Amino acid sequence: MNWDEFAHWGKHISDWSAEYHKTLRDRPVRAQTAVGETAAQLPTAPPEGAEAMDAIMADFERIVMPGITHWQHPRFFAYFPANAAPPSMLAEQLVNTVASQCMLWQTSPAATEVEGVMVDWLRQALGLAEGFTGVIQDSASSATLSAVLTMRERATGYTGNRDGLSDKGHLRIYCSTEVHSSIDRACWVAGIGQANLVKIPTTGPMYGMDAVALQAAIRADIALGHTPAGIIAITGGTGIGGSDSLGPILEVARAHDLYTHLDAAWAGSAMICPEYRDEFWADVDGFDSIVFNPHKWLGAQFDCSVQFLRDAAPQLNTLKIEPEYLKTTGDAVTNYSEWTIPLGRRFRALKIWFLIRSYGLEGLRLRIRNHVKWAQELCEEIRTLDGFEIVTEPILSLFSFRCAGDDEMQQRLVDALNDDGRIYLTQGAFEGQKIIRFQVGQFDATRDDVMMAHKVIKEVWEQIK
Ligand SMILES: *Cc1c(COP(=O)(O)O)cnc(C)c1O
Repeated sequence: MNWDEFAHWGKHISDWSAEYHKTLRDRPVRAQTAVGETAAQLPTAPPEGAEAMDAIMADFERIVMPGITHWQHPRFFAYFPANAAPPSMLAEQLVNTVASQCMLWQTSPAATEVEGVMVDWLRQALGLAEGFTGVIQDSASSATLSAVLTMRERATGYTGNRDGLSDKGHLRIYCSTEVHSSIDRACWVAGIGQANLVKIPTTGPMYGMDAVALQAAIRADIALGHTPAGIIAITGGTGIGGSDSLGPILEVARAHDLYTHLDAAWAGSAMICPEYRDEFWADVDGFDSIVFNPHKWLGAQFDCSVQFLRDAAPQLNTLKIEPEYLKTTGDAVTNYSEWTIPLGRRFRALKIWFLIRSYGLEGLRLRIRNHVKWAQELCEEIRTLDGFEIVTEPILSLFSFRCAGDDEMQQRLVDALNDDGRIYLTQGAFEGQKIIRFQVGQFDATRDDVMMAHKVIKEVWEQIK
């Protein structure tokens, strides 16, 4: 492909993209294709000869698009949002074009320096104390793994990487029962093991970790000769939004000199609104590591996960490796690949710069405040629906409900709603029962989009009950 053809197709795809977004409301939210349907339309072997771009593009529309679930659909209420605001998409197009590897300062000084400033803009936006630095990772899972590795190394006097773990006994990590599965997986791959991830029961209206039970569990582990290594707290758990009360957990951590990590992957974005901080983030500045995903609620296209560090040294002592070919000479610089597990890095900060400048923090706050308000309004509507009960009240913009009937009936309703296509919801679990989750957070959602869910749920329920 030459650059004139590239320009032609670039314009075509840009027009196609705008049209796609303008007509998104008319499409079913969840893909309606059957298992294997897409693969069956692809040739089983790669072509030997070149094919024309118009044929490739036509097949993209014909074969691929029907099998896409529309995450940017304004009536996407499943999982959590993965918002891609238009300015962040444009920034990604530029990043795709320049296609730099941003592993070291010298491999693209601007990428490193914009990243440093964007992490600090976001620190201020979230109301975190001065002194936090940070790094942009691909996902919260990677940031949490980095933190767990840091817990491991710190608790073993930084000997785990060197000597292995065979003589380290039982390193123990603590979290609540409401955490995301990425915490379990981080403990698996860090060599801690599922059996040494201690899940503490929750208490109170926010389903936060019981700090008294946490203290007791740590004391019991020490009595058994185990080595407590760290605590992982959560703001906005995936199931129902469970959020820990941070101060009491930090007190326990300090008493036992434990490293602390806070997973706010979803709910962290809401902390750009100062009014939520007292309830969710009192004492947050005491955490050693905090992760939140601008690629969820805030609007920075996937992938974009920010990890803040109160002191970067423990993580650098854990992950930094400097073979000769990566050494840089001259003035001291930040090389962000030393802060993370992968060496290669995309230029992710650019989309944050485009996003924040295009909307201003006030524009982003307005969306989040609306989402929280509309989720509460819809929750009240569903509460009055015959045969329905609210199981967990809204935590920010997430609540859960059940229809009359057993767990199988909940799944039938979810599947029927998603087959209907006007809205998209997913199920979850709470206290041993299946629940139906509802979260509001799509960037372009309007109040009408949200309130329409009431009508759709009512209609579909009448058909299947
Ligand atoms: C989404 C989510 C994660 C995982 O985020 P990734 O960036 O996909 O790894 C972890 N924790 C919570 C609370 C989440 O909502």
